[in-house]
Amino acid sequence: MYLIKTPRVIQKLFPSFHWRVEATDNPVIYLTFDDGPIPQLTPWVLEQLAHFNAKATFFCVGNNVRRYPELLTQTLAAGHSVGNHTMHHLDGWKSDNVPYFHDVRHCALQVKSSLFRPPYGRLKPAQAQFLTRHYEVVMWDVLSGDFDPELTAEDCYQNVVRNASPGSIVVFHDSLKAEDKLRSILPRLLQYYADLGYRFEALTPELLAQKDGITANTPQLQTA
Ligand SMILES: [Zn+2]
Repeated sequence: MYLIKTPRVIQKLFPSFHWRVEATDNPVIYLTFDDGPIPQLTPWVLEQLAHFNAKATFFCVGNNVRRYPELLTQTLAAGHSVGNHTMHHLDGWKSDNVPYFHDVRHCALQVKSSLFRPPYGRLKPAQAQFLTRHYEVVMWDVLSGDFDPELTAEDCYQNVVRNASPGSIVVFHDSLKAEDKLRSILPRLLQYYADLGYRFEALTPELLAQKDGITANTPQLQTA
């Protein structure tokens, strides 16, 4: 069970996480891609973004970067931003704190970034408390659901167009599990928002570093 649109009440309960870019009425959408980079899909994503002069944010699994370092280089050279998504895509709820932090640090050797997104959106309170001291922890307000085998590509497309608004942070995956759906929806979504006059920008620590605080609990949200 997961929520496509993160309710405002949950966003307010966890104010030290970044759910969307506030205080903007500018037509800007923040596309994010988790779990790559992989040679089968990430270069294609970069091509699609380039067609629209779109910038995005890639939350990379350290182990993939270790295997395909040139893809990280290519992503950064194209003007996108990157973030830490742990070395081995660990589930915080199922991980002890010390090994979890070790895995984040291991990823940090591959991915130099102060942006972090927890796999599955799951952090225990102590993990959240520690990580928000060291990182801008980036969640989302809209999930495409591209990771969900129960959803069609059309469902995922509709999830985005029905829920995204200026300042939204939208989640996709450059993973094999999401590949078919992403190949179907990404070009359509880029065209849809470009036609509406939106820009696509990368998240940066400077953009996000406007809040700090301590998180008391973890949200009941899930992504892949
Ligand atoms: Zn993930």
